[in-house]
Amino acid sequence: MNSTKNATSNATKDAAVRPLGVLAALPEELGDLIAAMQAESGVVTRTHGKRDYHVGTVHGVPCVVTLARIGKVAAAATTSALIHEFDVEAIVFTGVAGGVGASVHIGDIVVGDTLLQHDMNAEPLFPRFEIPLLGRARFDADRALSQALADACERFVEQEGTALATHFRTATPRVHRGLVISGDQFVASAQAVAALRAAQPDALAVEMEGAAIAQVCHEYGVPCAVVRTISDTADEHASTSFASFLTDIAGTYSTGILKRFLVAYASTSR
Ligand code: SAH
Repeated sequence: MNSTKNATSNATKDAAVRPLGVLAALPEELGDLIAAMQAESGVVTRTHGKRDYHVGTVHGVPCVVTLARIGKVAAAATTSALIHEFDVEAIVFTGVAGGVGASVHIGDIVVGDTLLQHDMNAEPLFPRFEIPLLGRARFDADRALSQALADACERFVEQEGTALATHFRTATPRVHRGLVISGDQFVASAQAVAALRAAQPDALAVEMEGAAIAQVCHEYGVPCAVVRTISDTADEHASTSFASFLTDIAGTYSTGILKRFLVAYASTSR
């Protein structure tokens, strides 16, 4: 998990204590993380750019936990603050998303190995989806971090998946890895999701923040990883499915995944 922070920053700050940034859009998507931090180390909250950043140690890992709110600009601004105000060594995003891939069902988990902004279009100046001046449309998440996150998801599904499926009367959740697409739209029609599938046949999930975080992290050389639980399938039922999933179950997923991820992170990275 390399970062390419500049020498001045490294000389003035102890690399061993650089925190991990943990980000979600909505409070439900953080599960019990802030309460767990409060119980473990206490929480120091700093407000910056109208957002609260919660600093402390949780499951053995020094973290800065915050809410980006919804959309790409919100996510990019928050990511930038995590990097420049809090000197995070890496960023992990946790939240919900709409399923796009044919085999991706509500209750499944998608780890975004690659991320793309599906609403970027500067044609004819640049190819469709390409981020102007960066020469690319797709941004890779950090491999080691994504692997650790996927391992945590697998352990979560193994240990809690059957109980979750019984409780919520769904199939046992599966963990997928691949392309996550982001845009400033809540996708909620069969037509819209079909258009996204046609444009990006390998897309697994659609959401509103991940690719913005991946772009900022790419620009600053900070590793990032994105995990999304599928709350809806981006069709006509999306808003009701999203709302009940968020209230009833999103927190259970985030709590279970983040706990396993952070415990492993504490033992390997320090
Ligand atoms: N009305 C909601 C707004 C939620 S927007 C509210 O009350 O706050 C949906 C959020 O969940 C975004 O953060 C996005 O990243 C994710 N998401 C889940 N399903 C989605 C879908 N079908 N399309 C786009 N984003 C989705």
